[in-house]
Amino acid sequence: MSQDLIAQDILQQLVSFDTTSYKSNLALVDYVQEYLQSYGVDSQLVPDASGKKANLYATIGADSAHPERGGIMLSGHTDVVPVTGQDWHSNPFCLYEEDNKLFARGSADMKGFIALVLSRVPLMLAQPLQMPFHLAFSYDEEIGCVGVRGLLTLLEQLSVKPAMCIVGEPTSMEVVIGHKGKVSYKVDVTGHACHSGQAPLGVNAVDYAAQLIVYINNMAQQSALNGPFDHDYKVPYTTLHTGSIQGGTALNIVPNHCGFEFEIRYLAQQDPAPLVQQITDYAHHELEPKMQAVAKGTGINITQIASYPGLLIEPEARLVTYVKQLLNNEAHSKVIFGTEGGLFQQRLGIPTIVCGPGNIDQAHKANEYISLEQFELGGQFLDRLIADVAQP
Ligand SMILES: [Zn+2]
Repeated sequence: MSQDLIAQDILQQLVSFDTTSYKSNLALVDYVQEYLQSYGVDSQLVPDASGKKANLYATIGADSAHPERGGIMLSGHTDVVPVTGQDWHSNPFCLYEEDNKLFARGSADMKGFIALVLSRVPLMLAQPLQMPFHLAFSYDEEIGCVGVRGLLTLLEQLSVKPAMCIVGEPTSMEVVIGHKGKVSYKVDVTGHACHSGQAPLGVNAVDYAAQLIVYINNMAQQSALNGPFDHDYKVPYTTLHTGSIQGGTALNIVPNHCGFEFEIRYLAQQDPAPLVQQITDYAHHELEPKMQAVAKGTGINITQIASYPGLLIEPEARLVTYVKQLLNNEAHSKVIFGTEGGLFQQRLGIPTIVCGPGNIDQAHKANEYISLEQFELGGQFLDRLIADVAQP
């Protein structure tokens, strides 16, 4: 069987595990662990607190290669986004080939990359690697890079950390040198209910939520006008956005609760903390005193949902030029989606790029697919990478 067919076979296995983020990924992780074991490769699991999910970390070539050189970490997430409410033409958990495309949830984002990496394990073992490869497969990436935190702790404790990292998110096999960071928050506005005929005696939670939302929107407009700017992005500045809101029960009741969620997607070179501070200051120093002057026990509670840092690596960095040379493609870009790459780079200081097969446009949607062409290109890249690492 050719390498590509073996990889397709593995992809078929990987997509058959429904690893939607809110579910367990252990069946998939067990499969990967057994697969690696069949080649004599040990792997380490980093479970979550519930024991229902785990990261997997494995090193190939630690005995024979030069471990002091750190090696190359190939990173991917095992979870996928939900298929609920999407109009799929085939079973999303069964790989289906048509028109030179492989359809399944996760085919592009990003079990395709993981399958390719696993299919190349025998090749890695057969070559005289000059430094090790590390496989780092996480869970709960899709809900804000949550699962990888345990893996970061493990990596932090290593005496020699990986020297570089390639995150195989779908970039159509182009080198991605940056993405924005993200912080997201849940806001609960507690008002004071009363009959709407006596509206001034109550505290209208919806009204106060609206004031805060408009304030956030004004900040978004300021950011668009004044920057800072990074013109490598299609939207070249930090964005602020409110994405959902719930409040009130009936028109003749002054609502005592309103909840909403907002996010800040910030340039990697910017610190989001002052922006968050500005919002919380407005809520606590401008709005809350007015609310509490009418009724005690009212107020605004702002809690963080998730956060991950941006990724930014210089175009001249060794890893960037190295991978470009292997790809025989000088292009690079920055992307709109987030990855675990910023955490590897910012928290651990590991030079990181994003480069993987498939197109993000096909991810997260019904009938997600990876083209056979992209799948093959991804495999060829890994073959070249492995051959190069095996060069004395
Ligand atoms: Zn992804």
